[in-house]
Amino acid sequence: MRGFSSSFFFNRASRAIHDHSSSISKLLLICAISGGAHISFSETQSEHSVNSVQTFTDVKKKKKVLVLGTGWAGISFLKNLDVSSFDVQVVSPRNYFAFTPLLPSVTCGTVEARSIVEPIRNIIKKQKNGGIQFWEAECIQIDAANKRVVCRSNVDNLLEKAEFLLDYDYLVVAIGAQVNTFNTVGVMEHCHFLKEVEDAQRIRKNVIDCFEKASLPNLSEEEKRTNLHFVIVGGGPTGVEFAAELHDFVQENLVKLYPKVQDLVRITVVHSGDHILNTYDKRISSFAEQKFQRDGIEVKTGCRVVGVSGKTIDIKVKSKGETYSVPYGMVVWSTGTATRPVVRDYMEQIGQTNRHTLATDEWLRVEGCDNVYAVGDCATINQRKVMEDIATIFSIADKDNSGTLTVKEFQDVVDDILVRYPQVNLYLRSKHLHSVADLLNDPQKNERKEVDIEGFKSALSHVDSQMKSLPATAQVAAQQGSYLAACFNRMEESQLKPEGPLRFRESGHHQFRPFQYKHFGQFAPLGGEQTAAELPGDWVSMGHSTQWLWYSVYASKQVSWRTRVLVVSDWTRKFIFGRDSSRI
Ligand code: FAD
Ligand code: MG
Repeated sequence: MRGFSSSFFFNRASRAIHDHSSSISKLLLICAISGGAHISFSETQSEHSVNSVQTFTDVKKKKKVLVLGTGWAGISFLKNLDVSSFDVQVVSPRNYFAFTPLLPSVTCGTVEARSIVEPIRNIIKKQKNGGIQFWEAECIQIDAANKRVVCRSNVDNLLEKAEFLLDYDYLVVAIGAQVNTFNTVGVMEHCHFLKEVEDAQRIRKNVIDCFEKASLPNLSEEEKRTNLHFVIVGGGPTGVEFAAELHDFVQENLVKLYPKVQDLVRITVVHSGDHILNTYDKRISSFAEQKFQRDGIEVKTGCRVVGVSGKTIDIKVKSKGETYSVPYGMVVWSTGTATRPVVRDYMEQIGQTNRHTLATDEWLRVEGCDNVYAVGDCATINQRKVMEDIATIFSIADKDNSGTLTVKEFQDVVDDILVRYPQVNLYLRSKHLHSVADLLNDPQKNERKEVDIEGFKSALSHVDSQMKSLPATAQVAAQQGSYLAACFNRMEESQLKPEGPLRFRESGHHQFRPFQYKHFGQFAPLGGEQTAAELPGDWVSMGHSTQWLWYSVYASKQVSWRTRVLVVSDWTRKFIFGRDSSRI
């Protein structure tokens, strides 16, 4: 009944969005822009409060916090940390923050590279009035035993001065992940990636190169076709968005400038799964496939790339086991991420050798290492299963030691269970159960007054099936960064007055509530001023109106007013003059 009413509501809401797209878009734009104004206002306020506190606490010996990385997780941590209580240092090989969701727009010049980056020194100066020290260098080793890291600057001619050591009391690892080639032969040498700003700039130059090469007088038609064959490996959100951007660039701008070669352009997306965008709602995935079909973008699903040479790409059709080669002009590899070597080395030091990614607990503390935290793409949360603790939960809940649990006894600990094990809430929602007490019902759904340990185990036996690892997104990274900063800000008070749920295995309460991710939805821009969006509550919205939602959200999420103005003016420039095709 609940499922019916909610889907009815969302269908109505979705239709309303389509029907009144323009007015809703304007409203959202206003909300987004005013949201931005609010962010800037609170930034100015915090600047003053930090100033006044700093002089007072300077006398106290501050703990050293060392942050590795200036991406989504690192910056969100720094922006929310009360720097007056800590001595904060940041290390990163790039001295800017990059707004990665707009990287695909940089590949075709819809947005300029400098419009989506903000210098770190600007951010830390604005936020904390110089209270944070930044070192442009790469961490090459985490020495967990001695609580220090080895760093190396990439600046030329430093020789033996290039390496230095930094001590810490608390280490926050936020160094993201690197591209994953799955050890496929030739990928590193011949493919482009779309991970960093430089990657997007290289792609932009290369696309124009391919068109200029194909326009030369002494090439055969076959050679021209090859030069204009763009292959994208990976049908996830980044690959799909790049394919859509490229298609728009070609159709809206390049065909007018290169009329002789316009019919020779081919864009192919190779994807190993059965459908592109397979982490999205099925409706979005099929909308994207249909749109690509109409646009003439070839989608090869169920295919894996097994090798890339200088001229051809080898594709294996999974169902038939056959491999064939296709000549290409440019390949963009976008198939997910892998752990960076420095993290892998650290995992070996702390005994996490059997894992793919660095594991933390639900408080983002690295497992097996004190005072080290990991946030963002470089780590995953190792969520504790309810079934691992079931006997202790039962004995704590059974206050009268009767060997059975009454509904009242269960209800007394239920809030702690829901906070400590978020999968219980997900399970209740997936089963449309209104109350946690419904879990104690017998298999025929009749109410039970009390259950013994076996009954309790079977009541909760399926709850852990709802555990999913969090996606590697900016949204997760930013939420983790701000959660961790909030914990650091309350470190002292919460030691005296713990804020977290009951410790089921030990006595007392946890110091903090565990990290809980809130999903605000995700976008999939599909080109032609159309975007698909998955919004909270199973709500899906697709088409031109959603593109306006995308513009509004991404304008409001910019890290500064400077980048917000630059991005909006780039979009305006594109509408008026089209994208620039100069190869610089
Ligand atoms: P990053 O943002 O990658 O930051 C890592 C930081 O660590 C960088 O500053 C880097 O320079 C630094 N670093 C690297 N090595 C070292 C070292 N050895 N020592 C010190 N510092 C180091 N997510 C969304 O939610 N929505 C989107 O629309 C979206 N679009 C995307 C589009 C593209 C093209 C890409 C590549 C990603 C996109 N993502 C999106 C994913 C999102 O960018 C990542 O999940 C997010 O950047 C992860 O944040 P992070 O802080 O963990 O890592
Ligand atoms: Mg009892």
